[in-house]
Amino acid sequence: MSNKKEELKEIEENCRKADLPLKEGATNLVFGKGNPEADIIFVGEAAGRNEDIQGLPFVGAAGKNLDKLLENVGLTLEDIYVANILKYRPPENRDPLPEEIRAHTPWLLEQIKKIKPKVICSLGNYATKFFLAEGNVDAMKEQPGIASVHGKVSFVKIDGVEIKLIPLFHPAALIYRRVWTPLWEADMEIVKSEIKDSHHSSATTQSVERKSEIKQKKLF
Ligand code: URA
Repeated sequence: MSNKKEELKEIEENCRKADLPLKEGATNLVFGKGNPEADIIFVGEAAGRNEDIQGLPFVGAAGKNLDKLLENVGLTLEDIYVANILKYRPPENRDPLPEEIRAHTPWLLEQIKKIKPKVICSLGNYATKFFLAEGNVDAMKEQPGIASVHGKVSFVKIDGVEIKLIPLFHPAALIYRRVWTPLWEADMEIVKSEIKDSHHSSATTQSVERKSEIKQKKLF
């Protein structure tokens, strides 16, 4: 077993022992899956029913679609690591509450610090807003939605960790909006090129401009 894999296991065991909101009503901790040595981490919102039962993220309908989407762009679970903002399923899949996000995301940040991916892909609105708000949960509501930022590269810093972020549509949303699938695939080409060239591409330069645009908007 690689060091990263062992160390992640240890973080998972500590997370399992932690007294987190939602733990009581959940069946299993849903910590993460995939390759700890991967260059890409996908971050979703929270476990659904199937994930709660199996203790693994993205194993239900959204997960099946994610597998298919990855296959379409020539990737597998070997190329990514997958985790969620919340580590336990909210009852009836309701939206995460601010205090739940605050309590659970330090564990996500531990995963990120250990894996040190080149790119983080936030899946859908919740994860995207968490990263764009740089972990400030109160600022999440001011962040732009996924429709305007998908495929755009941003640099964010949370808890001292520098993150290259590329938001993607959530695979569950694509089940109902198949017309977005080509956009998802095009966004993944940006992800792939950012991994190949971790230095400045035109995409990264544009995104630095975009991020400052977003920041400026917030000032007025
Ligand atoms: N949706 C998510 O955001 N995460 C999962 O693990 C499953 C569905």
